[in-house]
Amino acid sequence: MAQSNGKTVLVTGGAGYIGSHCVVTLQEAGYKVIALDNFANSVDDGCDGSIALKRVEKITGEPVTFYKCDLLDTVYLERIFQNHQIDSVIHFAAMKAVGESMQYPMLYYKNNIIGMINLLEIMKKYNIYNLVFSSSCTVYGEPEKLPITEEKRIGQSITNVYGRTKFFIEEILKDVTNSDDKWNIIALRYFNPVGAHGSGLIGEDPTKQFTNLMPFISQVAMGKKEKLTIFGNDYDTPDGTGIRDYIHVMDLASGHVAALHKLEKSHIQIKAYNLGTGRGVSVLELIKTFEQTNNVKVPFTFEARRHGDISTMYADPSLAERELGWKATRSIQEMCSDFWRWQTMNPVGYKTVLTNGHNH
Ligand code: UDP
Repeated sequence: MAQSNGKTVLVTGGAGYIGSHCVVTLQEAGYKVIALDNFANSVDDGCDGSIALKRVEKITGEPVTFYKCDLLDTVYLERIFQNHQIDSVIHFAAMKAVGESMQYPMLYYKNNIIGMINLLEIMKKYNIYNLVFSSSCTVYGEPEKLPITEEKRIGQSITNVYGRTKFFIEEILKDVTNSDDKWNIIALRYFNPVGAHGSGLIGEDPTKQFTNLMPFISQVAMGKKEKLTIFGNDYDTPDGTGIRDYIHVMDLASGHVAALHKLEKSHIQIKAYNLGTGRGVSVLELIKTFEQTNNVKVPFTFEARRHGDISTMYADPSLAERELGWKATRSIQEMCSDFWRWQTMNPVGYKTVLTNGHNH
């Protein structure tokens, strides 16, 4: 991987699942990392530090400068920009629970959209225009044609508030870029991130009620939940269950480094890229692979389709390969075994006391 010449990147939401894995990859590529997080969906160490980021420091041997900061607190946010010479920003910090977003739309609009605007204002004030934004394949809504390319018009038939916050922000970013061509922005549209760092030290530890498939499979395999409910076996797919493009979180992380390199080399104003593998995997296939790879049992039952779910979604990731020089390389087996290693080493997530006697 190309090296970064010691540039400094601010990572918002750095203590979260994708953020923390991305910090590992950024440090390995030679970046200095400043991270902030408000612990809305990540775990603190009791002294305003992040357990995940302490573990990242163990993995990389490099320090992470961390601030407990909410993007709605512009006074504190500005202090971070005053204290550091920041070259680029990667913006992960956002609320992401689909069901919750329907219950509390204003909370989602306030956090995700106002948070983004506050960040853009401060970046502009400090003359920082390189931004990588965490978007999602949910901006595409129901696909008419598969695999999905970036050319598909976004914003139609999005079924939840969370997805609309991502769509609205992409639109805001276009307007902001049109108003001032100094901006240099990449929106990365993630497909379904799963897996964990191979060390088993960091992984997904949702502090909220989670609904995603892989954490659920793993909880059932652990015996913490009796069985998995498969939402729908009457989709128009080979085995009747929903198909998604699962991508290893470390591949996703390296996509961010590739995006930063692109912004450093060229002025593209604004562009969106899919980060996926290009391969669709059904719920049943994922369960089977998880069972075989990890030698565990995952009992399941079929129930009705989940409201708002789509049948099939997978990426055409070729634009990112052509223009960012990035490609996902890790297999479904690796996603399953890395997730399981993290889960079994940390049965209660980051609150697990590791067997070496300390937690961070
Ligand atoms: N799914 C399921 N049972 C669960 C959670 C998810 O059958 O407990 C299915 C869901 O219907 C979809 C796939 O697994 O087909 C991925 O769902 P997830 O919520 O992880 O991602 P998203 O639907 O947002 O792509």
